[in-house]
Amino acid sequence: MSQRFLQTPIEYLKGVGPQRGDLLRKELGIHTFQDLIHLFPNRYLDRTTYHKIKQLQQSNADVQVIGKIIHLKTVAQKRGKRLVATFMDDTGKMELVWFRGHKWIRENLKINEPYVVFGRVNWFNGLFSMPHPDMELWKDHKNKRRSALQPLYPSTEKLTNSGITNKVMRSLIAQLLSETQLNFRETLPENMRKELRLMAKKEAVVNVHFPQHNDALAKAQYRLKFEELFYIQLQLIQKNAYHKSKFKGHPFSQVGDYFNTFFETHLPFQLTQAQKRVIKEIRNDLGSTAQMNRLLQGDVGSGKTIVAFMSMLIALDNGFQACLMAPTEILAIQHYQGLQEWCTLMDIEIALLTGSTKTAERKELFSMLEEGTLQLLVGTHALLEDPVVFHNLGLAIIDEQHRFGVAQRSKLWRKNDRPPHILVMTATPIPRTLAMSLYGDLDISTIDEMPPGRKDIKTVHRYDANRLKVFRFLKEEIQKGRQVYIVYPLIQESATMDYKDLMDGYESIVREFPMPDYQVSIVHGKMKSADKDYEMERFVKGETNIMVATTVIEVGVNVPNASVMVIESAERFGLSQLHQLRGRVGRGAEQSYCILMTGHKLSADAKTRLETMVGTSDGFEIAETDLKLRGPGNLMGTQQSGVLSLQIADITKDGPILKLARSYAQQLLKQDPTLSEEKHQNILLTLREIGKDQGLWKYIS
Ligand code: ADP
Ligand code: MG
Repeated sequence: MSQRFLQTPIEYLKGVGPQRGDLLRKELGIHTFQDLIHLFPNRYLDRTTYHKIKQLQQSNADVQVIGKIIHLKTVAQKRGKRLVATFMDDTGKMELVWFRGHKWIRENLKINEPYVVFGRVNWFNGLFSMPHPDMELWKDHKNKRRSALQPLYPSTEKLTNSGITNKVMRSLIAQLLSETQLNFRETLPENMRKELRLMAKKEAVVNVHFPQHNDALAKAQYRLKFEELFYIQLQLIQKNAYHKSKFKGHPFSQVGDYFNTFFETHLPFQLTQAQKRVIKEIRNDLGSTAQMNRLLQGDVGSGKTIVAFMSMLIALDNGFQACLMAPTEILAIQHYQGLQEWCTLMDIEIALLTGSTKTAERKELFSMLEEGTLQLLVGTHALLEDPVVFHNLGLAIIDEQHRFGVAQRSKLWRKNDRPPHILVMTATPIPRTLAMSLYGDLDISTIDEMPPGRKDIKTVHRYDANRLKVFRFLKEEIQKGRQVYIVYPLIQESATMDYKDLMDGYESIVREFPMPDYQVSIVHGKMKSADKDYEMERFVKGETNIMVATTVIEVGVNVPNASVMVIESAERFGLSQLHQLRGRVGRGAEQSYCILMTGHKLSADAKTRLETMVGTSDGFEIAETDLKLRGPGNLMGTQQSGVLSLQIADITKDGPILKLARSYAQQLLKQDPTLSEEKHQNILLTLREIGKDQGLWKYIS
């Protein structure tokens, strides 16, 4: 089959035409025959299997059950009524529920006659219930038992309304498959298919659209998922290699006095094994001729700062400047203060640049920076402004990267004739699977070990009704000299509602914890930054006992004496945010606590989030759960990447396939970097096609 044929515009398929072609393009992005073949079903209706009520599980799949209705009743609810039937088989009971069409159902349903019901089940009030089941009397059903799985294709309201139903879609695909006579070129080499026991391409295409049975479907899906992920990985790895060969970094050939002096005389604590390993990884990169592009991930409190500092010392040892950019002013100041202490010990010139740096100060700073007498610069976005010109920037470190876009990152390195080495630090652990598909073109270092002696943070969930008890506990902790954070959700910077919650909360806290016995600080995004700093400073110095805040304190702030984190309306926060917030405590020697306050009404997802927080403090485990709950599309940083438009693989579920695909891609490129071997010709060809025609597979970002 020639590729040309598959590139035929979709309207030329028999049964499509200009009008339908237009709809398919607009609604599903199907431009060519090839696109239609790669429109994979979302799910399949399995009407070949019958389930027993006792074996039902909560899942997204539709199930089919044989049983009888033994009872029918109407239940009043907030708005209107629902009709509920008790449905029974020889293993148990479940409910069938209708919210509409009661009259017709009441008149037509037969009690005590065997039915086959089909649909999705929910777990509700201790029973499984199936809303608006598809049902049929058993005696009618058994005469026309379906023998195959029925694919359900992605669709939109517009498509359905214009008559392009699932059935039409199926027949279009059947039509197309018969026209191609299944002459698809195989995209994976024979030896690889043998080794991994992957189905042939054409067999996989047929079986994914028209599966004969579950087993064939699973094999077809596996093959197509592997193919999709394999080609993404090939491209990412090639991109990485290309980047390394094209962008020469400044090779930092030596580790000199700054690094060694710090390591031998000033190290404030023993580095963890993970910190040592990561510093070594960074050092290797810095010493090579390629420009470093590395992501450093480590949970909150895992000690990324010292790794950053020691990396900057290597730049200094080689006569280069380094900078550290933070997402907020508060954080930049904290970094600056921390690093300044170490710099003073070694006569290193360091400065802070933020939006509030005064003009006169700026002037001097800029000229020192250009001369090269200023060695380290710490700051906010202000670092990206035009007047900031380095003499020779060798290393740029970006803390808490999700606050910065990709465009900003490159702005930083456009400032030099040769790009500086880049180290991006994040405390939002990215599940490995996601990292591999997102940042396949970035190298990753992970600090997976906490500094010793860290006590686990006790995390509890409390309902608003128990507020007084919680306040009592806070008073006891303050009595012991500890400090407390109370955080309110701020979903949108501009939402007045949220500010009202915060201010109401603040007032009630001040009432409950009155002066002069207690001092309460407040920090939120609408305050002037000077006021914010002032309040923050008071809390850092221990002058205030309680810090009432919005999520501005989410990242980085370090107050070791703060041992309690109260999160108000915790159900409104995402998991990674909750985890970040909790990371603000547990930094000192004392036992720390995180109290998640919520109302009584909680969605299933909110419950899972709270349970996860109470159950674990492992950032990676939390990130995995987050990924499962929200899907990859909502996680940080995924917006700009291709993961959203995967055609068949699902990185929340297909991690193992992704790993395999990645290691295969790596191995292949190591062995044959230019893919010039005969047996790799089809790979080269496929890659070229992907490169040439962006519409071929949509996942190419
Ligand atoms: P994060 O990774 O969240 O940026 P930090 O670098 O702020 O973490 O480190 C958190 C705290 O742990 C700091 O007070 C730091 O001094 C301390 N710390 C870091 N590494 C170690 C270590 N190896 N041993 C003991 N304490 C450490
Ligand atoms: Mg940090």
